[in-house]
Amino acid sequence: MTPACPTITLADFQQAIASRDVQFHLSAPRYARRKILAAAPDHCPLCRSPFDRTTPRSFSAPVIATCVHTFLGGPLTVDNLFVCCRRCQQSRASTDLLTLPDLPAHLADQRLAVLQLSQNHPASLPKSATLTEVRQALAQRHAMPRSRVYAAQPDDGSCLLGVSRRYGDRESKGLAHLLARLGGTPLHRDKRLTVYALTDTDFRRVVWQLIDANAWVIGIGRRTELRDFQDHWWVSSASVSELRARKVGGVLVPLPVSAAREVGASALRMRRLAERRRAAREQEDVEREYREASAAYVSWMATRRSPTAFPIDPEDEMAIVARYGTACRRWAEAQA
Ligand SMILES: [Zn+2]
Repeated sequence: MTPACPTITLADFQQAIASRDVQFHLSAPRYARRKILAAAPDHCPLCRSPFDRTTPRSFSAPVIATCVHTFLGGPLTVDNLFVCCRRCQQSRASTDLLTLPDLPAHLADQRLAVLQLSQNHPASLPKSATLTEVRQALAQRHAMPRSRVYAAQPDDGSCLLGVSRRYGDRESKGLAHLLARLGGTPLHRDKRLTVYALTDTDFRRVVWQLIDANAWVIGIGRRTELRDFQDHWWVSSASVSELRARKVGGVLVPLPVSAAREVGASALRMRRLAERRRAAREQEDVEREYREASAAYVSWMATRRSPTAFPIDPEDEMAIVARYGTACRRWAEAQA
């Protein structure tokens, strides 16, 4: 979990990134590797050149690659693996597959499916949002290449965002341009890392713009007192249902202000239910009135036909007929 951070210096920020910006080799289970290699086609899906299975160390030898690199929050499961040639794997490193030209459709689909199982930040949705709605919100982010960003939001309001260019990450360069446009002031720039300084207000806006541009934001430091949804940018989970429930690793993420004001799906359901109940009550009223008015009308007709009945006041007669007429019209309208 991201530690609370009263204040942070540039040197401390850089040091914290250095320890996290190490791309260690993660290997999938042997049975999974064997299965995937055995089922691999005879050519690389990225460069379309044929595999050389005779020389295992050659650049054309098939190797196991991750669809969404673990460095970008991808899981180490069979779903996330595919086979490409060693040359493509080395030139791509940890970059998102989307940054490669002519990505085959099946890999694009696999990438989208795996991103749903990868580390994701909560989405700005109301409490009533369904799993499908959360998945849709995440899928919107996933339409953009995944990137990795480091961030610190200390209590003193001097916030920092860091973009690493390690391993020739093409996407990070694009991200640096985005950040420059979003209003960050470059504080430090070298071959490996660019650090931007932002005020607390700008940070809260920019960090969520980055998340919505599919950044996986690694928290270096967070505020001690978390005020609202926007201060929970450092929360991420590989479980969509955890994100939907807003309970991630013991942290309860509050509802976003905009989503709380929005009319949620359950409120809409309640509203529709109340509407149906009101309509049913109205229908009942119309039918009762129709029954009673008809009964009064029938009994008045019977009275008229009977020579021994007590005569009825003409004004009352008019009222009975008028009531019956109105009840019939309302009843007919209700049936339409
Ligand atoms: Zn290749």
